[in-house]
Amino acid sequence: MVSTLFTTRFSLGTGLPDKGASSNPYNAFNLALHVGDGKDSVLANRAALREETVCAMFMNQTHGSSIFIVDGISEMEPTADALITQVSGIGLSVLVADCIPLLLWDAQVDLIAAVHVGRRGLLNAITVKVVELMEAMGATQIQGKLGPSICGVCYEVGEDVYSQVVGAYPLTQSRTQEGKFALNLPAGLLGVLTELGIQGELSKECTAESPEYFSYRRDGITGRQAGVIWI
Ligand SMILES: [Zn+2]
Repeated sequence: MVSTLFTTRFSLGTGLPDKGASSNPYNAFNLALHVGDGKDSVLANRAALREETVCAMFMNQTHGSSIFIVDGISEMEPTADALITQVSGIGLSVLVADCIPLLLWDAQVDLIAAVHVGRRGLLNAITVKVVELMEAMGATQIQGKLGPSICGVCYEVGEDVYSQVVGAYPLTQSRTQEGKFALNLPAGLLGVLTELGIQGELSKECTAESPEYFSYRRDGITGRQAGVIWI
């Protein structure tokens, strides 16, 4: 059985009442070690996630296109932007604060992936690479979930970036409420998935608009929430 969850700023997404260990500006359930929060707080939040669900494995994300195949639980955080496994009991985790946490799975063959997709991840086609690898590992019926991320109205960019991304992925074209150039990354990623024959389920939540989520665009120094998938 495949399980997925998306944590928020104030909840681990498990339905249980929680009290996060991180204090302002990382309050409450920051799960990232690299953002300036105290290590003890982050490890306490990760321990709470482990107690309520599964032992999660994280990665050192670089907006690159490296994929790491997990063959056992490990304290190490591989430098990668996607984790794949067929091993049960390991929560593959992607950390975000505006980027898209993409979870992919094929329940028929017990194969799962957690992917970090931001603007650069869209441009470097990490999702296509992950799907190709999953198919090479036997997947034939992949499904996907896109967790909360910044929406197309909030993600303002300069004209150069807009032209580059929209040139490659026309579905990303968007405008802010003031009519400035903006990118709709979830729309672009859904388009990529559709072309791959994958139906993606999209969260309607915008991390920049909802105080329930960490948002780098809104807050700068802040924590990270996670998308987690396990079998
Ligand atoms: Zn928004």
